[in-house]
Amino acid sequence: MMQIKDVSVFYESKKEKVEALRHISFKAENDDICAIIGPSGCGKTTLLNVLSGIIKNYEGKVLLNAEELNPHIHKIGFIPQNFGLLPWKTVKKNCLLPFKIRGEIVEKETVEKMDLMMKRLNINEFQNRFPSELSGGQKQRVSIVRTFLMKPDLLLMDEAFSALDAIIREEAQELFLEIWNENKMTTFFVTHSIDEALYMGKKIIVMSNTPGEIIEVIDNNLFNNKNYKIDKDYSKLFSHIKNLIRRGWNK
Ligand code: ADP
Ligand code: MG
Repeated sequence: MMQIKDVSVFYESKKEKVEALRHISFKAENDDICAIIGPSGCGKTTLLNVLSGIIKNYEGKVLLNAEELNPHIHKIGFIPQNFGLLPWKTVKKNCLLPFKIRGEIVEKETVEKMDLMMKRLNINEFQNRFPSELSGGQKQRVSIVRTFLMKPDLLLMDEAFSALDAIIREEAQELFLEIWNENKMTTFFVTHSIDEALYMGKKIIVMSNTPGEIIEVIDNNLFNNKNYKIDKDYSKLFSHIKNLIRRGWNK
């Protein structure tokens, strides 16, 4: 379980002090996948940076399985908007990089699992290519394989689908959920798409404009439903979230 308790973040420079997050509290179970949505600049990336351990200077507490969050103890998987692949390493080496960084031996089973996942995602024949030789969608799938292979305790994604064009994006969301359902782990993803939040978020965390506060957490019953757009609750939920964001924007 992930517990975020009363987290506040300030950015301080010589000239000013910016309050980016104010009193964020939230609990997520180990099989929760949570969408974070809110207006631009409300602190979504800041929150992910706290959860990934990049920002260490914050008020409050973040606990993962009752232990204070620590990137040296916990395995944290991160899929950034640009997919975070190293351009000078092949697809295969990129996927095995987390093991190398941790100084772990790559077991035969790991390589087999990688091959299998790559086949599922249709990128197996690209193992020896470099990232620059792949399309955006293919890069993203490499990033997904790399992340699931390391079996993280916590998975974070910052607008990981927004760089893809519409048709590929829907397919990528579906593939991601398929793999996620087989390897469930506490997951937080930032999105600015209400549709993406409704399809992929078991819980939807709606944030207000700066300083970012949680204005509502929605238990989303459209989660994982491929036909969510024709569900009777869709338009009601969509406008509810839209109104929350609008109100949060004007606060
Ligand atoms: P989002 O991801 O929701 O668009 P961010 O988390 O990037 O928002 O930023 C939240 C707020 O903090 C914004 O007002 C932004 O200008 C400010 N901010 C972000 N990073 C820094 C920084 N390194 N120094 C000062 N202010 C920052
Ligand atoms: Mg951001």
